[in-house]
Amino acid sequence: MLFKTLIFFCFAGASLAYRSYENYKVYNVVPTSEIHIQMLGDLKKAGYDFWTDILTIGGNARVMVAPEQEQEFANYALSVGLKPNVTISNVQALINSQLQPATNARSSTLGSFSWDRYYSLAQIHSWLDELVTLYPGVVTTMVIGTSFEGRELKGIVIDFKKGERGNNPLIGMIEGGIHSREWISPATVTWIIKEFLTSDDPDVRFLAETFIWHIVPVTNPDGYTYTFSEDRMWRKNRNPVNYVPCATGNLDLGNGIDLNRNFNFLWMTTGASSNPCTQTYAGPSPSSELEAQAISNYVLRLKETGNFLYYFAFHSYSQMILVPYSHVSGQNVLEASNYADMYEIAIRGAEKLTARHGTQYQVGTSADILYEVSGSSFDWVKGVADIPIVYLFELRDVGEFGFLLPSEQIIPNNEEIMDCLVEMDKTTRQLSYYSGTVPMYASFISLATSILFLILMK
Ligand SMILES: [Zn+2]
Repeated sequence: MLFKTLIFFCFAGASLAYRSYENYKVYNVVPTSEIHIQMLGDLKKAGYDFWTDILTIGGNARVMVAPEQEQEFANYALSVGLKPNVTISNVQALINSQLQPATNARSSTLGSFSWDRYYSLAQIHSWLDELVTLYPGVVTTMVIGTSFEGRELKGIVIDFKKGERGNNPLIGMIEGGIHSREWISPATVTWIIKEFLTSDDPDVRFLAETFIWHIVPVTNPDGYTYTFSEDRMWRKNRNPVNYVPCATGNLDLGNGIDLNRNFNFLWMTTGASSNPCTQTYAGPSPSSELEAQAISNYVLRLKETGNFLYYFAFHSYSQMILVPYSHVSGQNVLEASNYADMYEIAIRGAEKLTARHGTQYQVGTSADILYEVSGSSFDWVKGVADIPIVYLFELRDVGEFGFLLPSEQIIPNNEEIMDCLVEMDKTTRQLSYYSGTVPMYASFISLATSILFLILMK
């Protein structure tokens, strides 16, 4: 009994400390053969934390290596002919600096938020409540479900024309934070909320007011909380029911399910793992997780209430706009019937995005530009809920900081994404997915152009 009690206190004590990544390094390796892929796959099974989900020949594979693993990793890489380069020399140093507020951020605030720092779940949830007070009659909060540990999947509905929309209103939904270590995702989603509520740009106003927006900044609240209290690099949810002890020193890794592999669309067919010790563990069965069920059920219910046109999911990192479906490449992309439209919309959005700060984004299916994936939320939204315009954004950067994007980059990242969304919406409208009332200024420009044309023709 005493022994058990001691063990309990050891674990309880250990769990109180924020896991240290002192002198952990991130290496980039480029596998050049199937054998390399297999070798790296073995490291993955052994519990090495790959920051790159799926390995491809010729692609960058970033892997985090603990100080005590370094010799083993170096020997292993040498023996199979891989040449690793250090890209992050001390992960803990980046974790520490990411927790500091930006020193050079432009001032941009709404209520208690200023986007010069990353916010905890409690801060995000209380900010959502603040918005109801600041925008009564426009903003309401909603809870789409509860997590394994009983936290709310809380969001807001923004409706500027309550009661004036008829029986088939345009609807858009935004999902953030399903992978908890991707902190820039909730930071982007909360910014979109701010822009919808406060921007005086006519295009943003049009997008904000034409749709009823359903926005959930953190869809993996247990994981997100865990990244603030226990382990900055946690990705999955916190469900321990499939726990197995893993080969690595990180005993915790056998907990949790990758929610973005758990959705009931081609579940576990490709790019997902049945091994609980991996970051892409898909769970014991499709939609086994409360968080995935909450999103799926909400989307299906919402679809019954109007013209549900947009679904955007935000992740990091890689700088990509992914078009469904994630298991198809080449000619097979046409499995999504409006792939060509979604591609064009995303390309136009990406061009606008680049125009703001020069950031380059790639566009395509996951299998074409990243790797094959199955069981993700956005593929499910497209393939099962049949929502027309669906994307997964992989936000900044391309690996210099990875998940540990400095707070200085939050606002520039958010600005370029907002430009992108506005352009995507314009293109969607041009492709006749919906006809909204064109903003006043646009009608004016178009009228002025027509008059000028008539005058010149005379
Ligand atoms: Zn992700």
